Amino acid sequence: MAIPDYFARNAVAIAQALSGLDDQRLTAMLGEVRVGITFGKDAESKEGCALTDLLVRLIARLYPTLIFRADSENGIVDRSRELARRINPNVELSGDPTVEVVVGSTALPPWSAQRIFAGSNGWIAAISTSAPQPCADTNIPFGSGVAACLAAANLFRYVFLPEPRLDANATFDVLNSTNEEHRSAIAFPPLSTDLVLAGCGAIGNAAAWALARTPVKGTLTIVDHQTIDLGNIQRYVLAERADEGSSKPLVASRYFTNSLRAIPNESDFATFLEITNHRIERLLLALDSARDRRAGQASLPKWVANAWTQPGDLGVSTHDFLNGACVCCLYLPEHAVMNEDATIAEAFGVPERIMQIRLLLHRNDSAPRDLLEAISTAQDIPLERLLPFEGHSLRDLYVDGFCGGAALPLSRMGTPRTEVHVPLAHQSALAGILLAAAAVRHELGIGNGSQVTQLDVLKPLPSVPSHPVAKDPRGICICQDSDYRDVYTRKFAGPLLGT
Ligand SMILES: [Zn+2]
Repeated sequence: MAIPDYFARNAVAIAQALSGLDDQRLTAMLGEVRVGITFGKDAESKEGCALTDLLVRLIARLYPTLIFRADSENGIVDRSRELARRINPNVELSGDPTVEVVVGSTALPPWSAQRIFAGSNGWIAAISTSAPQPCADTNIPFGSGVAACLAAANLFRYVFLPEPRLDANATFDVLNSTNEEHRSAIAFPPLSTDLVLAGCGAIGNAAAWALARTPVKGTLTIVDHQTIDLGNIQRYVLAERADEGSSKPLVASRYFTNSLRAIPNESDFATFLEITNHRIERLLLALDSARDRRAGQASLPKWVANAWTQPGDLGVSTHDFLNGACVCCLYLPEHAVMNEDATIAEAFGVPERIMQIRLLLHRNDSAPRDLLEAISTAQDIPLERLLPFEGHSLRDLYVDGFCGGAALPLSRMGTPRTEVHVPLAHQSALAGILLAAAAVRHELGIGNGSQVTQLDVLKPLPSVPSHPVAKDPRGICICQDSDYRDVYTRKFAGPLLGT
């Protein structure tokens, strides 16, 4: 089968989203599905091209067979094939489709019984199972970007869920404003903004995809110290197969050919905060760890937005430090979190060995043979599946072996801890596009309060995805601390401003 060589990470993401799926069943399901993509005439518009680009970048990472056709021969089929090949060099590009995604308005007869129609108009994404959705010709990438993610989400549900619920006729207004003047207000005159994107993982990739296409002026500093590994390619929309081993911020920066200038920065986030002396105006957080998110907020940027994926959903939050919830309010411990050593000892099935495990974790040491044998017995896993982890840190055995499917069969993984969750590609991409949109909405003066938007990609769109969030009621957060509030006010809102 024409699956990509980074397929193992796909299998983990899918097994984490849908419980009870094993390797053979997943491989069989993907072997049976052939995705047709039909382009209407308006798929050559600016939004149609953007929608197509992201859609191919999402689905070519997962589905081994893609078949493209268009109303008229205008190059979009060839460009899509080339892009799909750069993402999965093994992709199969012929066959009879079993399910079809339609971009824009088409007169072509149906290819398969199930069609998913996607289109957009500026800030508005449209998705349907019954009628073609036109593609407008604005240079606003948010409606088209969200439409691509929603098309991929509906396709995923159709293929993998036993009783899929699709978006029969839905729109998602990314602008979410009653002021109609805002809809075309990005480009004339162009907005100017200086942004910092902290983290260029799966969410950061999609945020960069959208910002590179947004007609705003200014700079985007992309901060990430890591390089792309093979498993990352499962969900990094800007990464192609040849990008393995390349710097994450450098790969993202090559897409910025319009008015917004990208500045790659290969520091880790803590070092970046030191270098910039904690003076950031607008910060987009697309980081893995809660600790780094709190550090970003504690550096007291003027404005901050935050995006995440976790088992079950994705979310984006925007923050008014003085008057609403700050980022730290969302990451305060609700209850005592189980210590890492206890979690790992329990996951391995050897809670009686917690002291040994604590020591090994503390020294960042590898598991000795007797511990591997005990885990093998407790979990009924052949010892051979654990032996490759001899010499690797115990943490690797937990993260890659037990949460990543290398030692424990996929069907037994269950819902993982948030920090080892592997999201679906379209889940991270949707979070990233909403994060980028939040920055432009803020520039337009929309939604300046603290607000959270949450979506579950395994279900149809909710009617009200966003709600305001208040500060933590216990009064224990930095945004309720008079020292922090004074520093913030002096930095941005007080009498010193502009002097
Ligand atoms: Zn707070």
